[in-house]
Amino acid sequence: MRLSDINKEYDIIIAGGGVTGAGIFYEAVQKGYRVLLLEAKDYAWGTSSRSSKMVHGGLRYLKQGKFLLTKTAVKERERLLKQYPGLVMPLKFIMPVFGHYGPSKASMKIGLSIYSFMAREKQHESFSRSEVIKKIPGIRQKNLISAVGFKDAQVDDARLVLRLIFEGCFLGGTALNYTKVIGIQRNRKGHLAAVSAMDEESLASVEIKTKVMINATGAFAEALHPFPMKKSHIRPLRGSHLIFPKSIFPLDRVISFIHPKDLRPVFLFPWEGSILLGTTDVDHDQDMKMEPFVTMKEADYLMEGLKHILPDFDLSLNDCISSIAGVRPVLSKKKKEASRESREHVVYKDKGLITVTGGKLTTFRRLANDALKAAKPYLPKPVSTNFKEKITAQPVDEISHQIPKGIEKRLSGRYGALGYEIIRQYDEELFCPIENTKSLWVEIPYAAEHENIGHLSDLLLRRVRVGLLLPKGGINLLDRIETLCRPYLSWENKKRDKEKKAYIKLWKTCYGPPQKKES
Ligand SMILES: Cc1cc2nc3c(=O)[nH]c(=O)nc-3n(C[C@H](O)[C@H](O)[C@H](O)COP(=O)(O)OP(=O)(O)OC[C@H]3O[C@@H](n4cnc5c(N)ncnc54)[C@H](O)[C@@H]3O)c2cc1C
Repeated sequence: MRLSDINKEYDIIIAGGGVTGAGIFYEAVQKGYRVLLLEAKDYAWGTSSRSSKMVHGGLRYLKQGKFLLTKTAVKERERLLKQYPGLVMPLKFIMPVFGHYGPSKASMKIGLSIYSFMAREKQHESFSRSEVIKKIPGIRQKNLISAVGFKDAQVDDARLVLRLIFEGCFLGGTALNYTKVIGIQRNRKGHLAAVSAMDEESLASVEIKTKVMINATGAFAEALHPFPMKKSHIRPLRGSHLIFPKSIFPLDRVISFIHPKDLRPVFLFPWEGSILLGTTDVDHDQDMKMEPFVTMKEADYLMEGLKHILPDFDLSLNDCISSIAGVRPVLSKKKKEASRESREHVVYKDKGLITVTGGKLTTFRRLANDALKAAKPYLPKPVSTNFKEKITAQPVDEISHQIPKGIEKRLSGRYGALGYEIIRQYDEELFCPIENTKSLWVEIPYAAEHENIGHLSDLLLRRVRVGLLLPKGGINLLDRIETLCRPYLSWENKKRDKEKKAYIKLWKTCYGPPQKKES
């Protein structure tokens, strides 16, 4: 479906297809509203495919005294673990305690006891020095005292966004990618009356009637709605990760450590069959119209931290297979040290124009409900719904006898009830992982057929993540991928070549191992 095919009036239009927009979309459709989501690029193109992929309470916010933020996030983590098994998965953490720097064992224990209390379950444990040395081979032994372990959770961030959007569409909502909100119109009383949107491919624009637009454009929010609070502006802060093959350091849990340079927490963690090291927290001075990239300075910072914690481990930047950078949409009043800026979300309303920004992936539902609460005075009575039945109508396990349980869980987690379509539709031979990743071959043709692929990068970086998980962005698999997609993507030879060239160029500039270039 394209812009020219849609209705010309909606109860709510959402600008932005990251986790915030997707969460609002899903919640609003479920409440029975007529909802349209417009995303200027691809779904999850922004920060929501570039996070640390943690569904977490945010232990460090406790240290800043942000008990409510942590409590909300812990509650959301528990809810997401229950609601999305196979997509949101439990993840263990280990945090070494040193005598010469970083938090003491006693302060960690207090923090973790509060954390466990919030989750209503003891979720932490202690490790002796010798246990830590066994669990983390190559760890710095000088001044090592012990370690604490705790539980949080992990997600494929882009797939969470996609699941919310496609399930929202399944329930009756409308969503378009590559469609940008370019302006709003108000009536004589100043109330929102319509939204102008442009198809990024044809450049055709249309006006769509609505009384509510929710601006969920993350770091781009001020382009559509300048903040009314004096001196309050979005401060784009970049966070970067380096990605390594799991074979060089087979981790089963996150190693959380304190960077010796600035005492920030940094994580080395397993994800989708690879190992990620991140993140940084620096002012984003790159062109906001372009995809962000990891600078050499950030890569050196991350490697320096790793070398400090694992001095005997032979890992260098040459082992890095790819990288990813994202921009935090942080609302800043008075510029302070980057990692001290608040991560809490804010909602502004202005006669039908609602802006929501900041926050975390973990708390997307909270953001969604706060935004919808702010929109309520402008909304009509929703039509009654019985969506719960519709969405669970085809449980995957009733039809998936030939598929191994682990694969079935993965598909139902990532695609929900729509996982049924995948299992019903494709040959059994495609239900195996793409080498060195957890992505399944079957996800490629499914995405090509059903998931609004505009460009090859949408498929390889967000529908499946092989562009991040394989050396050289997985280009040696492109022939097989092309064969699998050909029945569903009617791309002529010229378009195919163009897409391939554009993908390789994008990957080298923004997703490859960091190069010596200035930010
Ligand atoms: C490095 C890093 C690590 C993080 N790690 C975690 C973590 O582990 N756990 C956690 O809970 N949170 C984490 N976060 C925070 C979390 O990722 C973000 O809060 C969240 O992804 C923001 O989502 P969003 O939808 O508001 O913004 P985005 O994902 O950026 O979405 C905004 C979308 O709006 C679109 N857009 C812009 N202008 C327009 C327009 N005019 N019309 C239509 N669309 C438009 C953009 O293309 C974009 O896709 C992390 C953030 C960063 C940067």
